[in-house]
Amino acid sequence: MIPKIRKYPDPVLSQPGEPVTEFNAELRKLVADMFETTYASQGVGLAAPQVGVSKRLTVIDLSMGKEPKDKLVLINPEIISAEGRLYEEEGCLSFPDITEKVVRSAKVRIRAQDAHGKWFEMDGEDLLSRCFQHEIDHVDGMLFIFRMSALKRDLALRKIRKLQKEGTW
Ligand SMILES: [Zn+2]
Repeated sequence: MIPKIRKYPDPVLSQPGEPVTEFNAELRKLVADMFETTYASQGVGLAAPQVGVSKRLTVIDLSMGKEPKDKLVLINPEIISAEGRLYEEEGCLSFPDITEKVVRSAKVRIRAQDAHGKWFEMDGEDLLSRCFQHEIDHVDGMLFIFRMSALKRDLALRKIRKLQKEGTW
């Protein structure tokens, strides 16, 4: 079954995830389900809190299911270095139809565990860098609207309230 994506302001989205300590079949099932949800929503990344699981786990696939080597599983991920600056449109599956420019680092190096618990480091530039930062924010309970300017965040929140009232959020 494909897990449903939690939308803002579901409280699980603002809660820092618990570290993953067990690398078992249950975890790998969750990872597989998260990829399915990501593809079904035509996204490039998804974090566990977005499917209601408060854990430090995220999946990324910039190819959207076309390139098996692009499938990334980041467990207990952290950014270990960052440089440069990007200011590009960003969206989030927990905020359907909201896109806005957000400041991010142009290049980051991350450290994470794979689905078997093995630690690795990886560099990301441009879109992959943004994706790393967006998803690692999620496992920290940080949402992209709080990276926007106050003015843009107010506009986004106003749009959400309007959609909620119309019953389309
Ligand atoms: Zn997101």
